[in-house]
Amino acid sequence: MHKQMIRTYQDLDFDDVKAHLLEYGVLSGICAKCKAMDLRLNDHACPKCGTEFKYVAFQNVREHLPKMIKLHAERPGIQFVDHQDFKRIEGEMRARSILG
Ligand SMILES: [Zn+2]
Repeated sequence: MHKQMIRTYQDLDFDDVKAHLLEYGVLSGICAKCKAMDLRLNDHACPKCGTEFKYVAFQNVREHLPKMIKLHAERPGIQFVDHQDFKRIEGEMRARSILG
């Protein structure tokens, strides 16, 4: 068996993703729900709003692949979400709500 990180696509509830997502940037994370900053990757829940993190989106997967592999080993239940997908859909939802 040769385990590797390979991207797959899933039909997910965007509201659920947004409510439980940790967006991980260069050195720290942001809660997608309340925008709390300076979160650590091993935070299981947001220290500000208390939401449980079920999803993590890395802004730079190439650079953070070792972190992803480590996190996956420690918390196999965590799902990785593509950051570009998340931002694109978030933008589309925002545009739709502005246009009514
Ligand atoms: Zn939060």
